[in-house]
Amino acid sequence: MKRTIYNEDHEAFRASCKAFLDKHAVPHVEEHLADKGIPRSFWLEAGKQGFLGLEIPEEFGGTGAEDYRFNAVWTEELSKVNAALSSCVGIHADIVAPYLADLCTNEQKKRWLPGFCKGEVITAIGMTEPGGGSDLAALKTTAVRDGDGWVINGSKTFITNGYSADLVVTAVRTSPEKGSRGITLFGIEATDEGFSRGRKLDKVGQTESDTAELFFENVRVGDDRIIGEIDKGFIHMMERLPQERLGAAVSNVAHAKQILEETIQYAKDRQAFGQPIGNFQHNKFLLAELVTKIEVSEAYVDHAVDAHFNKALTAIDAAKAKWWSAEVQNDVLDHCVQLYGGYGFMNEYRVARAWRDARVTKIWAGSNEIMKELIGRDLGF
Ligand SMILES: Cc1cc2nc3c(=O)[nH]c(=O)nc-3n(C[C@H](O)[C@H](O)[C@H](O)COP(=O)(O)OP(=O)(O)OC[C@H]3O[C@@H](n4cnc5c(N)ncnc54)[C@H](O)[C@@H]3O)c2cc1C
Repeated sequence: MKRTIYNEDHEAFRASCKAFLDKHAVPHVEEHLADKGIPRSFWLEAGKQGFLGLEIPEEFGGTGAEDYRFNAVWTEELSKVNAALSSCVGIHADIVAPYLADLCTNEQKKRWLPGFCKGEVITAIGMTEPGGGSDLAALKTTAVRDGDGWVINGSKTFITNGYSADLVVTAVRTSPEKGSRGITLFGIEATDEGFSRGRKLDKVGQTESDTAELFFENVRVGDDRIIGEIDKGFIHMMERLPQERLGAAVSNVAHAKQILEETIQYAKDRQAFGQPIGNFQHNKFLLAELVTKIEVSEAYVDHAVDAHFNKALTAIDAAKAKWWSAEVQNDVLDHCVQLYGGYGFMNEYRVARAWRDARVTKIWAGSNEIMKELIGRDLGF
């Protein structure tokens, strides 16, 4: 089905994203895999070409596109390379960006945003803690007032870009007695004394993304590190989680769609019993179902992207897009592995990696159960 939300400017931008990734990412995916991370050189090159500052105003070095559809195009093209690249770049350019662009003071913007856009300041967001991620309001990392500053203690885990980040937007408890109304966001810099990180975590998939545990041991910062308002961190996060979930949905569908296209080609090329395996009615019908599932999901996600561009996306619709697309992605990729036969289980095949990479999408950005909890609550239960 013809997609209608993207105009020729978006498609021209898509072509430049693809050209950039074909040159600076695709030839290096094995290195990313071996290094368990994306090298700084990639970030700097992406920054130089303006791919990191889509949400950042021009005066601070960004392109100030003010059109989420460009973010979505960039996310799709990254996801076609692999899910980890989309996740690392997405955390920075699509998820952290609105916190900095919307909530920072002018001084903070001058300090962080030019480097953010150039790829010199890689960012991460630290919400999840070893004790729990779904129940965000129960987080335990604390910031205690000390003179005119704060002393931060605690830890975060599963933080994407955690190993390489220069700046971590960190959710911290400032008022113990106030529950979700006692959380504040701080910008913690990697050079802050008392900040440290663990090893790159060994994951089932998305090996190319660096995911780490972060530790805060008596990290002293001033008020100038508070992002947004004191004790309003939970609200700041709730306001921005729909964009995170929408970005996840865009990535989920684009990632599965790409691998499905490659699988259709494989089903034409691979022979069994003297004919292409796609010719067997079972496989032909299966591929017909998978293509339909992807296109129907893409239509919903496109609609959500358009709604977000028009500032009309609800948290509930973002939750629907997130859980549904994650289920479809995992279902489609599991069938793709099956169609590749034994090769589908070999790590050197893109389909195998994609299948492993996809598993986490049902868990992160708010697990699929939490998405259904939100949707169910909205139904009045
Ligand atoms: C590769 C990776 C990258 C990540 N990147 C980041 C990042 O950059 N920043 C960040 O802050 N976090 C990140 N996360 C963390 C991620 O968001 C959390 O793992 C997720 O929110 C779930 O939290 P948890 O792991 O603590 O699971 P828990 O909260 O312990 O949940 C365990 C299980 O219980 C279920 N559950 C919990 N509450 C309910 C409920 N009310 N009803 C029904 N079921 C429920 C969950 O759905 C899940 O199945 C990342 C995780 C991974 C794996």
